[in-house]
Amino acid sequence: MKRAIRAVALTACLALAACGNGPKPDDAPPPPPPRTLTIGIKFDQPGLSVKGIDGRPRGFDVDVATYIAGKLGVTPEHITWREARTDQRETLVSSGAVDFVVASYSITAARQQLVSFAGPYLLAGQDLLVRQSERAIDQPEDLDGRTVCTAEGSTSADKIRRSFARFVRLTTRDSYPQCVADLISGTVDAVTTDDVILAGYADEHPGTLRLSGHRFTRERYGVGVRKGDIALQGRITSIIRMMIDDGSWRRALEKHLTATSYKPLPAPAVFNAPDRTVEPGDPTTLDPELVKAAKAVAATSNARDWEGFRSLVCPENADAIDEIVFQYTPQYDKTLGPEIRNAGYTNTVTGVTQSGADAATFAFHETFTNVPEKYRHYFKDVDYTGTMVRREGSWKLCSLTADFVEP
Ligand code: GLU
Repeated sequence: MKRAIRAVALTACLALAACGNGPKPDDAPPPPPPRTLTIGIKFDQPGLSVKGIDGRPRGFDVDVATYIAGKLGVTPEHITWREARTDQRETLVSSGAVDFVVASYSITAARQQLVSFAGPYLLAGQDLLVRQSERAIDQPEDLDGRTVCTAEGSTSADKIRRSFARFVRLTTRDSYPQCVADLISGTVDAVTTDDVILAGYADEHPGTLRLSGHRFTRERYGVGVRKGDIALQGRITSIIRMMIDDGSWRRALEKHLTATSYKPLPAPAVFNAPDRTVEPGDPTTLDPELVKAAKAVAATSNARDWEGFRSLVCPENADAIDEIVFQYTPQYDKTLGPEIRNAGYTNTVTGVTQSGADAATFAFHETFTNVPEKYRHYFKDVDYTGTMVRREGSWKLCSLTADFVEP
């Protein structure tokens, strides 16, 4: 990647030299080496990324990675694709063997200790793949005494170990196709990982395998970059936003994923803030009006006073902020159905940092009550980070990011 950035600088100098009184073309230095990137990707996940007979991978993750590379100035023929199996991703990123990973890689707090994530760029959820003839398995609770297979190092394995280990026999493999082969042969009773991945296998074996179709976690796919490379993380996050805004994201989704039995969730509206933590501010240096406004944002949300809430939000970003509220508030998440109606939540301000006379960030923490057991995983505690801007004397909330807090 460093090489890529150096090459950009060189090209800029060349362009300037060509326009000004620089050396004549004959004296021009040789052209810079082409920019290249090595990207970690899966080779065996139809729909997301599967290696074709020409040796090149194809799928939604490939399109995301190629789009990012393009905006970083790297053309597809200068991308080297490197297989990034589930349990290899952290090592590939931290050793520098790849520049970044786009490989159905869920953002989790544990992984954030080892890599930094840009995104998210896709939402999915853990699900079950069973034989078509299977009548007894629909939800993970039905796996009592049965054997379920997944890839080692996945969030799916973690989830089974943490929440269902009492009754499920878990077996892991290096990759999902090995689990799928064992499911077909009858060695295991179910395969578990994200619905978007399982849908690809179900479609490869119509009439033999089927997706149960009840997501029981929410996975947010991020692009893994070397831990602490905040510059690349921020760039890729902006590029993903661009991809969603210019329609390329939807086109890639329709091309690769809507033909499968995966039911896409909306494009993520939430973007991972850089790895910096927001320190609680020193109240003596803060504008008291700012503290009041931050508290009012939390209070109006807690009181479901949406008119009051809207009055504290920058009008041009109100819809985007609403979308985030929709995604992280049980009652507003229409994908979850009426059982979630009685769930409650409380937001508390945990930190305010004023970065200038008219600019600030603040953090608040949200906890949930009365979330039905089966939806508990969707509504772990959430940490929000908001930016506040002072306009004509009053502080407004102008952007919001959110992240689940892993136990
Ligand atoms: N998204 C999950 C994870 O990152 C499962 C898919 C995978 O193994 O790539 O662990």
